[in-house]
Amino acid sequence: MTKTQIEVTDLHKYYGKNEVLKGITTKFNKGDVVCIIGPSGSGKSTFLRTLNGLESATSGDVIIDGYNLTDKGTDLNLVRQNVGMVFQHFNLFPNMSVLENITYAPVELKKLTKSEAKKKALELLETVGLMDKKDAMPAMLSGGQKQRVAIARALAMDPNVMLFDEPTSALDPEMVGDVLAVMQDLAEKGMTMLIVTHEMGFARKVANRVIFTDGGVILEDGTPEELFDTPQHPRLKDFLSKVL
Ligand code: ADP
Ligand code: MG
Repeated sequence: MTKTQIEVTDLHKYYGKNEVLKGITTKFNKGDVVCIIGPSGSGKSTFLRTLNGLESATSGDVIIDGYNLTDKGTDLNLVRQNVGMVFQHFNLFPNMSVLENITYAPVELKKLTKSEAKKKALELLETVGLMDKKDAMPAMLSGGQKQRVAIARALAMDPNVMLFDEPTSALDPEMVGDVLAVMQDLAEKGMTMLIVTHEMGFARKVANRVIFTDGGVILEDGTPEELFDTPQHPRLKDFLSKVL
């Protein structure tokens, strides 16, 4: 039985008079790996940010693991603990070591002891291939290393869902593969993942579903084969002709 983990119903988001999300309705199941593609300015980041409460919806519902983010009574901080987010520009704490970056939130928010958090952080650093960088400061790391630390940091909270907003767009090309490999590994372990990306090869290989957005709506939603091999919408065809 597939289990719905995220349910979005008629989501609208305005910035002032600018309607950025124009009625998005979709569901994501546990274990889904969904790549979201679309032109710049189409509302991809805004959509992801409304899924962890970094942006509030103007109207509509976002239900994650049974919690409706748009209900006034919902504890957004609690929901956010279960929704990991990885950004284009890493957003590591610059004044903390790699290990401190990863242990900070579990100790502060999940009340793990320092030694429990450290044990877990070391395991995560092992899985992202950065054990030897545990004591480094972020400024000493390459972009690809920073992003792998950011992924480990998000995973340290034991999230049910991971959101990635163009995680490889700021990286030098030779760093992209290492980060995508970590993400593929996570996908194969069954993590529910929503990934805004321009990496069409990754989307085809790793995603079970691809969504094409343009102008604040979902124009196409299907398997990678459906979207990449038999695109229906003229705007998707045009987009693919530019990026593939
Ligand atoms: P994408 O990630 O697809 O490039 P965004 O979600 O970042 O698109 O942006 C969609 C639209 O919303 C753009 O027109 C952008 O200028 C606008 N926008 C995004 N964030 C804000 C904000 N904080 N305030 C005002 N307008 C915003
Ligand atoms: Mg964006």
